[in-house]
Amino acid sequence: MKSGTKENPRHILGLSGGKDSTALAIHLKRTRPDIFDKLEFYFTDTGTKLDELYDYLEVLERYLGRPIYKIKADVGEDKKIGYKAETVEDKSVPFDDVLFNKYNGFLPAPNARWCTRDLKIIPMEKWIGDDHCISYVGIRFDEPSRDGYKSRSKNVNITAVYPFREDGIVISDVYRILEESVGIPPYYRWKTRSGCYFCFYQRRVEYAILYYLYPDLFTESKKYETEHSDGRRFTWVKDKPLEYIEENAKDIIIRYVKKQFKKAKDTYREGFKLKFDQMIELIEQEKIEEFINTWDLKRLHDVDGENKDGCDVCAI
Ligand code: SF4
Repeated sequence: MKSGTKENPRHILGLSGGKDSTALAIHLKRTRPDIFDKLEFYFTDTGTKLDELYDYLEVLERYLGRPIYKIKADVGEDKKIGYKAETVEDKSVPFDDVLFNKYNGFLPAPNARWCTRDLKIIPMEKWIGDDHCISYVGIRFDEPSRDGYKSRSKNVNITAVYPFREDGIVISDVYRILEESVGIPPYYRWKTRSGCYFCFYQRRVEYAILYYLYPDLFTESKKYETEHSDGRRFTWVKDKPLEYIEENAKDIIIRYVKKQFKKAKDTYREGFKLKFDQMIELIEQEKIEEFINTWDLKRLHDVDGENKDGCDVCAI
């Protein structure tokens, strides 16, 4: 029977590289093999993610034993957004195509978030076409007020379902599922969410760590701030060019660690691998990788609870 009809819809699961969508794919493999067999996995690829994320998706692909479609935006001459869907990664950077060919270098921002729409939602909806689909979304039981993707187009026949909510899965279950299978995404050692390496939803400390871990990508991020044909200058962090982060990277990390450590209750601090002075010493010595490999920076991020700022499409 043809799939994509009302009677026989397609089953899709969008992976962002985030913990929840990854754990959901694994959970469905374990608990709903009949659905798992029909699932089409996809990842909407801006071409501007960390290699750590692409590597993690490969690990997941092997674990699932199924391909993950990489859906990329494709800008036509009329500036309309189309898509490409491949199971192998190519090196094209749709973010750049859309930024320069459609938005004349105008960087996305929280109040002008064209990136999610043009690079993720529209290409995914074009990939679906007018097929009927059931979309499996990794929103958990302990997130009653969180919303996933909702189409604004009347022509899209996608129904979202929430297996974690149905099964009472909460955040600790998600970490357990990951620890038992593919591991926690390694970028969570230092990032509060998955997404593009320059994403404006990052905290300053994440840009500062990017500067140490991926100097080339930091330089690329800076170029976006300066390369504009009309001479205007946009910045990722409001009123703070990345040069400021670069010049103050160590201090930014130290200030953040002090602030978060102060907020942490004594019982919580017992979970840290390092003592406060040891953290500061490593940062002073610019042994940033050694510091984040303890996962203490994640523990410090988690003092604030989960980071739910920004865009669920990019981070669930
Ligand atoms: S991760 Fe950030 S920059 Fe990238 S598409 Fe999502 S919101 Fe935009």
